[in-house]
Formats: sequence, structure tokens, C-alpha cells
Amino acid sequence: MSKKCIYCKKEVNDESVIDFCEKCGIGVWGEKMFNAIVKNMEDAQDKGDINSKGLFISSDEIKNYRKII
Ligand SMILES: [Zn+2]
Repeated sequence: MSKKCIYCKKEVNDESVIDFCEKCGIGVWGEKMFNAIVKNMEDAQDKGDINSKGLFISSDEIKNYRKII
């Protein structure tokens, strides 16, 4: 089972911490913001504290995030 980009449905690397491809991520947030989001999520995953400090962003949160920005 492979992950797919929530925007364009293109396949995303299973090991990726994000649910969308780089192209869409940068298209939505811009490269700087996209890199910051990816870094936050990777840091959260490394620390094993996903969700406990609001560092991990779920697909739903990403959609809300998109609305805010
Ligand atoms: Zn995509």
C-alpha cells in the first residue's frame, strides 16, 4: 500500500513524513514554509512525540492550515 499525495494523488514515498508531494507542498505554502513544515514533522517523529505538542500535522490539519494561510 503506497501513500498518495492528498492534492494531486501522485504516489509519495512511504517513508515520507508528509502526505503530499514536494511539488504540491511548495505550490501550496511556498518553499520556505514547506521546508519548515517538513522539518517540524521530522523532528516530531524523531522525538516520538507526534501529536503531543502539536508538532505533527495530520491531513485534516494540513487542510485547515491551508485555509488559514
Ligand atoms: Zn502532489
